[in-house]
Amino acid sequence: MELDFGPAVRDFRDELRDWLAEHLVGEFAAHRGVGGPTDGAAWDIRLAWDRELSAGNWLGISWPQEYGGRGLGLLEEIVFEYEYARANAPYRATGNALDLLGPMLLAMGSEEQKKRFLPPILAVEELWGQGFSEPGAGSDLASVRTRAERDGDDWVVNGQKVWTSFGIHADWLYALVRTDPDSQRHKGLSMLLVPADQPGVDIRSIRNLAGQDEFAEVFFSDARTGADMVVGEVGQGWRTAMGTLGIERGTTLLPQQLTFEREADALIELARERGALHDPMLRRRIVDAWISVRIMRTTNMRTVAELVAGRTPGAQSTTAKLYASTRHQQLGHLAMELAGPAGQIIGEDYELDTRQRSFLLSLAETIYGGSSEIQRNIIGEQLLGLPKDPRP
Ligand SMILES: Cc1cc2nc3c(=O)[nH]c(=O)nc-3n(C[C@H](O)[C@H](O)[C@H](O)COP(=O)(O)OP(=O)(O)OC[C@H]3O[C@@H](n4cnc5c(N)ncnc54)[C@H](O)[C@@H]3O)c2cc1C
Repeated sequence: MELDFGPAVRDFRDELRDWLAEHLVGEFAAHRGVGGPTDGAAWDIRLAWDRELSAGNWLGISWPQEYGGRGLGLLEEIVFEYEYARANAPYRATGNALDLLGPMLLAMGSEEQKKRFLPPILAVEELWGQGFSEPGAGSDLASVRTRAERDGDDWVVNGQKVWTSFGIHADWLYALVRTDPDSQRHKGLSMLLVPADQPGVDIRSIRNLAGQDEFAEVFFSDARTGADMVVGEVGQGWRTAMGTLGIERGTTLLPQQLTFEREADALIELARERGALHDPMLRRRIVDAWISVRIMRTTNMRTVAELVAGRTPGAQSTTAKLYASTRHQQLGHLAMELAGPAGQIIGEDYELDTRQRSFLLSLAETIYGGSSEIQRNIIGEQLLGLPKDPRP
């Protein structure tokens, strides 16, 4: 499938294809398709690849040039993501900052914050972690209890965050904290930028199902950051956070579908090798998996059309997230079944193969970025007009 937005964007696409052909070689090519939004595999190589992209000026396609971006538009951004996924380049280690924090700063950050933080993101000099969730605040994010109090020119932060993706690599954290101690729920929260390398910040890794130290818990004990490190207004952190989650749900599904298509193709190949295509029950499930990735493609094309027309995809991204995450898990279950005993090998000295890792990590897809139950609530209430879920 080709995405074609006319001659100017075609030149951009050809330039990108040429660059990828020239640079996606050697150990970078050996790590094609490695990594994911919550997959920390081959971290150092992926970081080196991000620096290669940065040197080629391929990060921040639509970010303004004054902050180190290319200053191009949404169409080029879409083409970049699509061609990048098509080339099956390693998953960018800096995705968190590039896809979430950067757009948040561009939309809501102060001029000083943009000048200070955007260029090092694009130069891959500073890595970021997202500190939203807490042990008592996940789906119910408004229950955030980590607090920050003013002390002269500083904020002093105390509390705990959890599930911070790639937290052990983070130089900075963007954290949702309570700045008004008397406030409740969505009110009195602020979005704070906190340096991770200081005595008051303790980051401890948590091992995921695939045996990686992918996410972390973060403890703040009198951690300090500057008074000017609030993104948006003090007390308006909920608005800022929701803007970020909107970005997360809106655009990050686009390249994912190509990965799923590749996995579906590999599944059919595996079924052929195992002689499983003769089994009518398995055939039915394989066809079902194949149809799923076609539906994802169509949904994503609708999302692209909405974005290009200047509209926010809105509730459509909720159905897309729910569909993609649940279907991806079914694809993984089927792949494991077809792999037979090979799918079950684990152990200290054994490195999981791509198929196993993808399946194990897919189990988190129905949790992060809003769990499936929460997506169903949104669909029920906002799309179908059903009665509201009782709120705590
Ligand atoms: C791999 C991974 C990476 C992550 N990365 C980050 C990160 O970088 N930064 C960050 O801040 N967070 C991150 N998270 C956390 C993620 O946002 C939360 O796990 C998610 O929001 C769910 O919150 P919870 O884990 O507290 O579960 P809970 O909210 O406690 O939910 C438990 C169960 O109850 C269900 N449930 C909850 N409320 C309702 C309701 N109203 N109706 C019906 N069912 C309900 C949920 O669907 C779920 O099944 C990550 C999570 C994972 C798995």
